Parts: sequence; structure tokens; C-alpha cells
Amino acid sequence: MDILTNADLHCHSEVSDGTLTPEALAHRAKANGVELWALTDHDEVGGQHRAMAAARAVGLPYLTGTEISVSFADVTVHIVGLGFDPDDAQLKAGLAATRGGREGRAREMAEQLAHVGIKGAFEGALKYVGNPDLISRTHFARFLVETGVCASTHEVFRRYLTDGKPGYVPHRWARLGDAVRWITQAGGQAVIAHPARYAFTPTQEFALFSEFKQHGGTGVEVVTGSHTAAEYVKYADMAREFDLLASRGSDFHSPEESHTDLGALPPLPGQLRPVWEALDSRVI
Ligand code: AMP
Ligand code: MN
Ligand code: MN
Ligand code: MN
Repeated sequence: MDILTNADLHCHSEVSDGTLTPEALAHRAKANGVELWALTDHDEVGGQHRAMAAARAVGLPYLTGTEISVSFADVTVHIVGLGFDPDDAQLKAGLAATRGGREGRAREMAEQLAHVGIKGAFEGALKYVGNPDLISRTHFARFLVETGVCASTHEVFRRYLTDGKPGYVPHRWARLGDAVRWITQAGGQAVIAHPARYAFTPTQEFALFSEFKQHGGTGVEVVTGSHTAAEYVKYADMAREFDLLASRGSDFHSPEESHTDLGALPPLPGQLRPVWEALDSRVI
């Protein structure tokens, strides 16, 4: 495993807000040359057994995965879990609690959108939902593109679904310590997802990394589909400074919407310890 470079440890299926099935993703990962894969649906492990079986069928080494929504300093932060027992009762209960508020939040989002003239957004978003427990902003974005309100999902987020915009509803997700504990107690490694994407001051970012480590978190995504090349360098430095393992993942959601395909990222920068080195015994 040590010489493996094309690990892709972050993507989404229709079990959360991706558009492909776990089986289609396994095929696509294999075809794209991925050597170690993890499906990391938001707040869900419902696709893990399918992903495992599909990976085995195409001869692709696999790590279990999820991406947990966390509230930290009033900002939503994502924590990826890798290599845990997908049947762990505490992890499953924690994820179910984290998902629990999504329907109410979605109904509020639809009410707010109605105020700015966009009717029927809850029902519209539901048409895109593969898992009724997991209605997300992405599903609203697809509906607003379908109805011609915006040209792309990115435009929907910019104009409607981010802080201060008419369809944005603040939400309280899991606590950082709980998310890290659910993952690690189930035998996995916790990883800070796409750290450059959070609106933190340097002090808040330092607090996130410090507290994450204190709770037992061990990794950080350095090379991800949502980082620029300059951000790879910044977070490679942060990984060294905080003595964290480095992860790599496309965050692929959909062939139509995602800029980075499965397996298409550059390798991790040198002198970093890849998170998969600590997960050797968890590879399926
Ligand atoms: P939610 O968990 O419902 O808050 O939705 C978050 C998801 O929205 C993320 O996982 C991304 O898939 C998607 N997302 C967030 N920001 C953007 C953006 N600017 N453009 C496109 N998709 C985004
Ligand atoms: Mn997503
Ligand atoms: Mn994320
Ligand atoms: Mn993601």
C-alpha cells in the first residue's frame, strides 16, 4: 500500500447528494485508475455495504467512509470518517441524529424561497432526492437549475443558498467532539474535509485544528477537488505543523456538476504521511 498514489477517499452517491449509485461510482473509480476508494456520503452509511460489494466485484480496494456535518464557531465544517465499522451502533445513531433536522430545515428553505417568488421548491427538490432522510441544499440547487432560475448549481449557491442569501437557513449540526468520537470509537480515522472552504479567521482555524486533535482527530484533506494548487501547499504545511496524516479525495458528486472526476487529482505533496498508511488493516 505504501507506494499507492491514486487514493480517492471522498465522493458522494445518490444515498446523499451525488447523482450516481454506489455501483456506478465503483465502476467509474476503477475505470479512472483509482487504487483505493472510499464512498463518503453526507451523514450516512446507508450505501457502505453496496459500495463494498461493488468495489470487491471490480477488484478495487475499499475503505468505509462518511462525511459528517459539524457546527464549529457558527460555521459548518465537514469531518470525513474512514475505515470504521459501518455497522457500529453509536456511529449509526449519531449520524441519524445529525440527519434528523434536514427535513424541517428544507421546509424552511422552501418557505423562504417562496417569499422571493420561487414556489414549490420543497417538492421540486424532493424529486432529486435518492434518500428521503437526506434532503440537502444540492437537491434544491438542481431544482432551481431545472426551472431555469439559475444556469448552474454553483450560481444557485451563490445567489440563494449561502449565508445571507434568501434561501439560506442556519442549522445546528453535530458537535466536533461527537463526530470525531463516533468515527474513532468505530475503529476509523477522522479527517478534516476541504479546510480551505471554511470562512474562518486564522485564529478560528487554529482552534479547529487544535480542538480536532484534542478530540482524537488524525487527518486533514490536503489534495481535494475543492482546493486550489496554492491551497495544497498551505494545507500540506498545516498537516506538518499539526502532525496530521494527509488525505486525498475528489469530492466527486456528479458527471454533470463536478469539476474533478474520481481519481483525477494530483498526488499528495511529498513528505506527508498519507492517511491510508494508518488504515492498512481496514482495507476491504
Ligand atoms: P447541505 O449539507 O444540505 O448544507 O449541502 C451541502 C452541499 O452543498 C455540499 O456538500 C456540496 O455538495 C454542496 N455545495 C456547497 N456549496 C456549494 C457551491 N458553492 N456550489 C455547488 N455546490 C455546493
Ligand atoms: Mn455534497
Ligand atoms: Mn464537504
Ligand atoms: Mn463531500
